[in-house]
Amino acid sequence: MRDILIAGNWKMNGSSAVNAELVAGIVAGIPDGDGFSLLVCPPFPYLGAIAAAVSGSAVRLGAQNVSEHEAGAYTGEVSASMLRDVGCDYVIVGHSERRAMYGESSARVAEKFVAAQAAGLKPILCVGESLAEREAGTTEQVIDEQLDAVLGAAGVAAFASGVIAYEPVWAIGTGKTASPEQAEDVHRHIRERLAGQNAQVAADTQILYGGSMKGDNASGLLAMPDIDGGLIGGASLKAKDFLAIAQAAAQADKTG
Ligand code: PEP
Repeated sequence: MRDILIAGNWKMNGSSAVNAELVAGIVAGIPDGDGFSLLVCPPFPYLGAIAAAVSGSAVRLGAQNVSEHEAGAYTGEVSASMLRDVGCDYVIVGHSERRAMYGESSARVAEKFVAAQAAGLKPILCVGESLAEREAGTTEQVIDEQLDAVLGAAGVAAFASGVIAYEPVWAIGTGKTASPEQAEDVHRHIRERLAGQNAQVAADTQILYGGSMKGDNASGLLAMPDIDGGLIGGASLKAKDFLAIAQAAAQADKTG
């Protein structure tokens, strides 16, 4: 049985004061229950403060990006071991905003995935198609290319401690959510692709959905058999909204 992971990607938002209030609200409102965990991914400068704020709580800490390099002359970059050092358990790699705005290729994302894992972080690999790609009927082809780059570099066993987030680009920050059935189709495809290489790893890998997930649509998405959580952007910036999704996770019945 896979646990549900509800991950908040705060992107480039907040301040010391705003983030302190946000994380305090999340920690204070963690729903009762088991079978789910919560994760927050603040911007780099706030990681240390948020690590202290979540310490002793059930909320885990992650970063939004990582360098593929271990150390050295890479101005402006942050290594995986630094993220571990300040208390991160997770890191997002290959978010569509980084692929589109910062030119991150699938090969580079795969290097980041490998670097993160080598330092003891759990990478959350984002994959997803654009609207044009969906309309052209190439969704699975796009996902396969993004996934295969990491499978090739890291091997399928790496996914035993890795997470995948299916994030249709057309649903990110647009208010358009993939229907539970549309999302489930892609999640099932991803799991089958992993199963082609290792059935046990495929059964264990958490596959999150991301794209305008909110309190009012989370239950329907989380009810699908291959949707194991959410990567949340906009709705992770208010404790009340994030906790509404956490509540849906606490109530989700994944036993069937
Ligand atoms: C995201 O950027 O990962 C995301 C899912 O954003 P939103 O929830 O705002 O669509």
